[in-house]
Amino acid sequence: MARYTGPVCRLCRRDGAKLFLKGTRCDTTKCAFERREGPPGQQPPRRGKMTAYGTQLREKQKVKHYYGVLEKQFRLYFEKAERTKGNTGAALLGLLERRLDNVVHRLGFGLSRPQARQLISHGHITVNGRKCTIPSALVRAGDVIRVKNRAESLDIVRAAQADNNKQVPDYLSITESQVPEGIVGRLPSIEDVSIPVDMQLIIELCSR
Ligand code: SF4
Repeated sequence: MARYTGPVCRLCRRDGAKLFLKGTRCDTTKCAFERREGPPGQQPPRRGKMTAYGTQLREKQKVKHYYGVLEKQFRLYFEKAERTKGNTGAALLGLLERRLDNVVHRLGFGLSRPQARQLISHGHITVNGRKCTIPSALVRAGDVIRVKNRAESLDIVRAAQADNNKQVPDYLSITESQVPEGIVGRLPSIEDVSIPVDMQLIIELCSR
């Protein structure tokens, strides 16, 4: 699946929120969002109030950039969420949160979602004992996410764990055995999502 390969700090500035796409740098004074106010680019900021459509669009883009998905894939998640019973917004966030790259990041094996994505596509991660190279794979309750037992994989993950200062969410647990291993205790709920987002705006936009 395609991915965004351009500069990432401009996404934070455009969306008006810290999206934590650069690992440890995001928590330092080098963070571009902290240093420069307003949207990226040379143009002066637009005057006037943002339209309802603009507000909805920004909210959707924020979630897409945060989880590293492009429009087509986001639409597929939305259609899937619409088909589930209950709250569509919660279902949509639940699906995004279940992505393997997100879970690997939240376990602290990768300092950012992009790094976690690379770990997976380079074959450093196994799910239930089998190598999985698909970052968008959805985890299920009871899945065991393990780092491959080889020096190269362990070095990368242990370095990330040493620098990681984020808490593991309640729906995941880590066991420190010979190799770092995480277990999905239950499916994530909307309370487990670490970015503040108004899902109603996104649902309104996607339902047009
Ligand atoms: Fe966003 Fe991180 Fe860049 Fe700051 S350093 S602007 S949080 S990607």
